[in-house]
Amino acid sequence: MGYAYDDQNIFAKILRGEIPNKTVLETEHSLAFEDIQPLAPTHVLVIPRGAYVNYDHFAAEASDAEIVDFTRAVGEVCRQTGVAPGGGGGGHRLIANAGEAGVQEVPHMHLHVLGGRVLGRMLPKAG
Ligand code: 5GP
Repeated sequence: MGYAYDDQNIFAKILRGEIPNKTVLETEHSLAFEDIQPLAPTHVLVIPRGAYVNYDHFAAEASDAEIVDFTRAVGEVCRQTGVAPGGGGGGHRLIANAGEAGVQEVPHMHLHVLGGRVLGRMLPKAG
């Protein structure tokens, strides 16, 4: 399956330094920064530097090095922001929206790291 990547998306511009961001963590293959419209006291976005549209694309085509780097970066962000469960952290939720059903707004793969308060049920029950 082909994935069409739009290099004019907002996160591509952030990666190129065309738009500022509040960086939380930089690694060889990943970048983490604060969400511009936070939905919780901690709301950080973790993105790969590579041109991947969504999690499915990343899982299918990223290198092992990129996947390991990204996964470790997410763990590090949880520790740094104090939302890693246990050890004093209160826990968190990780969200990766994709496509229409997932209501993904920015077509560059990203994981939301949310925490700092009790986040409530995962989704409202279907009516
Ligand atoms: P999505 O719905 O695609 O999973 O989430 C996209 C997220 O990107 C939203 O939470 C939105 O607030 C955030 N966002 C959109 N534009 C910008 C921006 O220019 N800078 C930052 N830091 N976050 C952004």
